[in-house]
Formats: sequence, structure tokens, C-alpha cells
Amino acid sequence: MAPEAGMSSEQSAVQAEVLELCEPFDRAYWRDLDREGTYPHEFVDTLGRAGWLGVLLPEEYGGKGLGTPEAVAMMEAVARSGAGFSGAQAVHAAIYNSAPLVNYGSEEMKSELLPAVAAGDAWIQCFSLTEPGAGSESTAITTEAVRDGDEYVVNGEKVWTSRLDVSDYLVLVARTTPREAVEKKTQGVSLFLVDIERGREEGSIEVEAIDKTVSNVVTSFRVTYDDLRIPAENLIGTEDEGFYHVLDGLNEERLVIAAECVGLGEVALERAADYAGTREVFGRAVGQNQAIQHPIARAYAHVHAAKRVTYDAAAVAADLSQKEVGVRANTAKYLASEAAYMAADAAVQTHGGFGVAREYDVERYFREARLTRLVPITQELVLSYLGETVFDLPRSY
Ligand SMILES: Cc1cc2nc3c(=O)[nH]c(=O)nc-3n(C[C@H](O)[C@H](O)[C@H](O)COP(=O)(O)OP(=O)(O)OC[C@H]3O[C@@H](n4cnc5c(N)ncnc54)[C@H](O)[C@@H]3O)c2cc1C
Repeated sequence: MAPEAGMSSEQSAVQAEVLELCEPFDRAYWRDLDREGTYPHEFVDTLGRAGWLGVLLPEEYGGKGLGTPEAVAMMEAVARSGAGFSGAQAVHAAIYNSAPLVNYGSEEMKSELLPAVAAGDAWIQCFSLTEPGAGSESTAITTEAVRDGDEYVVNGEKVWTSRLDVSDYLVLVARTTPREAVEKKTQGVSLFLVDIERGREEGSIEVEAIDKTVSNVVTSFRVTYDDLRIPAENLIGTEDEGFYHVLDGLNEERLVIAAECVGLGEVALERAADYAGTREVFGRAVGQNQAIQHPIARAYAHVHAAKRVTYDAAAVAADLSQKEVGVRANTAKYLASEAAYMAADAAVQTHGGFGVAREYDVERYFREARLTRLVPITQELVLSYLGETVFDLPRSY
């Protein structure tokens, strides 16, 4: 791989520290957890104890008080260490689910919870938005939260709610005003902090794991909320404006997703190059054949370009309008997902038959790279956003 360029000294320091923490969690660790479908508790705990789950939390709450450029560097390093996109996703949510709390939570909520999050003692790993009838069209959610005295009563069904099994709290997105009763479809939605253990003990949160083939270290659930009672003080921000609270900061978060894709692409290329240089067929290393060498080199060019777009955007995000950050972040996410996919595909092909054997890990990277084209937003919706925002073309979503 080419030497690093264009990184600030803070970003280099973040990467050095994070990579050191990641080092004990080797390829076999991730391979075994992926095979077993087990959450990487020890790994997340290690980062949490070192304060990295609080990378973005203000210092007054015990966080590191760092910004998007450092979060980008951190999460690229996590993915590149061999944790891949799955390992990154095991950490990512803990960092970003506290964002609405920081920006919109009550002082009481913040002082009670955020120091514990920063210390790695409380996990808000779970975000419950998607429903059977509302994925890309997230404003179509029908889960409702109805005010009843000092509480809200929640009923509805969610899908793909990930990490509920390992989280202390989840951030729930529910309608407090029906879609028909609001002028804009983005209105009438609210955010709530939900105590998972309490809800499950009371029988008002029922879960069923979704049987899936990728990102196995994280479990995703169908969730039924049946008369779940939430104290009114657990409303995050302003009633009916939750959607705007979610949108706020989403672009910076998307840059971090892009960085995770970059890290995944990088680790896939490292494996590809290792194998290409050592596997001999017809009396020479397979990497001597341009049919093997060029896809690796081509993917490198794409990963490198995606990385530059991501890092450049992260460096200036704080000074740009949300529209400008949105364009750059969505461009970065699109490019990084495609580049990771290209890299992982080249890595599988380089390994021949062993490309699909677990022991070489590249088949896992391939599954994960495929997933990045679907989550947290599909590539189509990213392109639709760019088409509308950059070129003023009619909106399709
Ligand atoms: C492993 C995994 C983990 C997840 N974790 C979470 C989580 O923790 N919390 C959570 O809330 N959600 C989670 N999700 C859900 C995820 O955000 C959605 O799957 C994603 O937003 C896409 O929604 P959908 O699956 O309903 O696809 P749909 O919206 O049904 O779309 C189907 C296809 O149609 C395309 N399409 C739709 N509309 C348009 C349009 N206007 N123009 C062009 N193409 C269009 C889409 O791009 C897609 O290819 C997770 C999903 C997965 C797979």
C-alpha cells in the first residue's frame, strides 16, 4: 500500500492508538465470532474502557471531545485492523446513538447517562427506526407513541433493530402525530430513550432474531412494541421534531461510514496482495499475471480516491452548510462502498477456490462489502439525493 498522506497529526495519533488496541483481536478472533454469530464483547469493551465510545462526547461528560476528522480516522483504523465493517458496526452505533442526546437531551438525561457511556459502562448501541413498511421511506413509519399522563404508550413493529441484545438503551423513532395529520411527512415523529431491560421484563418488548448471512457478529431483530410505557422525560428533544433531530449530524456520521468502507477495502487489498505474491501457479506467483494484478491495482485506485474524498470532506465539514456536507458525505459513502466491493471482489478472485474458504477471511470481507451497498442507506437513495441536490432533478423519494 502507498504511504499515508494528507492525515493530520491528530488523526495519525488516533490511528496509532486505536490500531494498538485492535491488535490483540486478530483474524482468528473475528473469523470465529463471525462463524458463531457472537458479538465482540471483549473488543468493544476494550475500546470502551479506553474511552473511544465517547470519542465525540463533550469533555464535560467525560468524553474525548473530538470531532468528525478524528472519528473518521478511528473507524477507518478499526475496519482496517481486520475487524472489517462488522467489527466497525459493533462500535459505530455506540458512538452515534448518543448524538441526539448530546444535542437535544435534557440536562438531567445527559448528566445521568453520558459519563457512563464515555466510560464504557452504559451502551446505547441500538437505533430502532426501520419497519416492515418503512425502510428507505423512513417517514412512512407507523409505530405510534401516544401520550398518557406522565408517560407515552408505544405500539408498533420494527425490523432490523440491531444490537438490542447487547444494549442497555435504545433510541426509538415513533410517530407522535399521524402522517395524515401533518403538513410535511417529516413532521410528527419523535425520539425516545428506552430502557431495554425494563421493557423486556414487562413483556412490552418482544424480539425475534432475523436469520441473515452477513455481519454475523451483530444480531438484528424484529421487534414488537406492545403497550410499552416510556416516562415522558425520556422524550429526546422536541415532540414531533424527532426526524429533524435525526437528520442533524447524519451527514457527518455518513462520512464515518465511508471511512469504515475504506478500511474494509484496505484490509481486503492487503490480503489480496499477500496471497497474490505468495501463491505459485504455473511456476510463478499468481500476482505476476495482470489478470490478477490489475483488479487489485484498480481497486486500490478507487479505495484511495474514496479515502481522499472522505478525509477532505471530514476536514472541512464543520465549516460547510449541511447541504454542502450532505453532497460530500453522500459522494464519499457511494464511492467508498463501491471501492470496498471492488477490493473485496478482487481479493476473492485472487484466492481462487480458497476465496470462499473462511480461513482466508476475504469471503467475509466480500459479504460485508456487499452489505455496505445496502446500509445504512442504499446506494440508489444516495444517488437520488445527489441527483436532486446537485442537479436540481425531480425528487424520487
Ligand atoms: C444488516 C442490517 C442492519 C440494519 N440495522 C438497522 C438498525 O440498527 N436500525 C434500523 O432502524 N434499521 C436498520 N437496518 C435497515 C436499513 O436501514 C434498511 O434495510 C435500508 O434503509 C433499506 O430499506 P429497505 O430494506 O426497506 O429497502 P426498501 O426501501 O424496500 O428498498 C428496496 C430497493 O428499492 C430501492 N428503492 C426504493 N426507493 C427508491 C427510489 N425512490 N429510487 C431508487 N431506488 C429505490 C432501494 O434502494 C432498494 O434497493 C439494517 C439493515 C440491515 C440489512
